[in-house]
Amino acid sequence: MTEKSDIFNLKPSTITVYSTVWCPDCKRAKKFFGEHRVQYVSVDIEEETGGVSFVENINNGMRIIPTIIFPDGDVLVEPSNAQLAEKLGLQTNAKLEFYDVIIIGGGPAGLTAALYLAREGLETLVIEKAGLGGQTGITQTLDNFPGFDEGIPGAEFADRLSRQARKFGVEILQAQKVSEIEQDGQYHIIHTSSGKHYHSKAVLLASGARYRRMDIPGEDELIGINVHFCATCDGAFYKGKKVLVVGGGNSGFEEGLFLTKFASQVDIIVNSQEPKASKILQEKVAEKETMHVLLNHNIKELRGRNKLESVIVEDKNLNEEKLLDYDGVFVFIGLTPNNDLIKEKAKLDQWGFVKTEHMMTSIPGIFAAGDVRSGATKQAAAAAGEGASVALEIREYLKSIGG
Ligand SMILES: Cc1cc2nc3c(=O)[nH]c(=O)nc-3n(C[C@H](O)[C@H](O)[C@H](O)COP(=O)(O)OP(=O)(O)OC[C@H]3O[C@@H](n4cnc5c(N)ncnc54)[C@H](O)[C@@H]3O)c2cc1C
Repeated sequence: MTEKSDIFNLKPSTITVYSTVWCPDCKRAKKFFGEHRVQYVSVDIEEETGGVSFVENINNGMRIIPTIIFPDGDVLVEPSNAQLAEKLGLQTNAKLEFYDVIIIGGGPAGLTAALYLAREGLETLVIEKAGLGGQTGITQTLDNFPGFDEGIPGAEFADRLSRQARKFGVEILQAQKVSEIEQDGQYHIIHTSSGKHYHSKAVLLASGARYRRMDIPGEDELIGINVHFCATCDGAFYKGKKVLVVGGGNSGFEEGLFLTKFASQVDIIVNSQEPKASKILQEKVAEKETMHVLLNHNIKELRGRNKLESVIVEDKNLNEEKLLDYDGVFVFIGLTPNNDLIKEKAKLDQWGFVKTEHMMTSIPGIFAAGDVRSGATKQAAAAAGEGASVALEIREYLKSIGG
């Protein structure tokens, strides 16, 4: 964390984002840094004395936010995601127009498949819209990935996996969202939302899954302000504060424990009498004096416009509503598959996960692996294993089409 004396500095030690809580472009820029696991400091110019005049001085008297100052002294004012990507030195354009395989998603499934395929000499392109490593990149510690007997920080795992893929010749685009998969005979055209397109003989959908939302009043307005889905990304904003974790599964309990590093109180709201989290995690939570579990409670509403003011919960034991005070809410209530690209065309299961046979979807030449696939076990090691398996299936498919 940056000291206060470093806040108004034209060469800060960390990227500094001058913003306000109500500015959507500020939210977008901060989300971009968060997704790419880039450390930054956020300064609310309306809260910090001298903040507004500092920004006005930089912008010739204009109050434009976000104004972002980098450690090398560069200043970006209201930058697009493309400008941020360029500043961070990310590869956003592919070298070729045609690839043997294009992989959508740079999580453990996508990157593992990529390194297997490239190692066999196949031209392989991975397109990732956010941070490499997918969900593992935002995991505090991976404790159960075979081979790491002492656990490994998720960010380090993600870095190692992407380095390993690049070592075998995989090309990786970042900050590029795939917006459409078009068929061209037996080939595929992959379009990105930045207007580029690339061709391939086979496609792997390794787009994973994302956290489910609560769908309650107040949630949309407060997302990114005081409602979060990633403790490692946003936990540090709650030093000495009181937070509510929603969700009684392993993620809720694990992330809740992590949040005790910062917050002075972490409560977990569970909508049943018995949490689904493992006994070990439940015991760890029970040992923490700063944690409380609200069993058989539902979260009903979040109040506050630019700041969370209160949380309405239903105590199902007493059949009554309570108004509680928290500074932030962290939500971990399950996963939704990232199936948008093929949900209209491919067969899905009842929850929207993509059905496969020999790991190929119902669309010839389009494969699926990892959390997005129906039947996947939603574990990092399993996703990597699926990446290896699907690479072998893709190799056979390419042979069958004469590739
Ligand atoms: C907080 C947390 C803790 C976890 N802890 C553990 C643990 O301890 N042990 C364990 O085994 N598992 C853990 N998991 C689960 C594990 O991380 C996942 O099962 C695994 O990452 C799934 O891998 P994947 O490659 O299928 O998908 P993901 O990791 O979800 O990666 C998919 C990638 O695709 C990208 N993408 C999606 N759509 C597009 C698009 N249109 N264009 C471009 N890119 C796109 C996404 O940005 C993402 O990076 C945890 C997950 C989370 C969130």
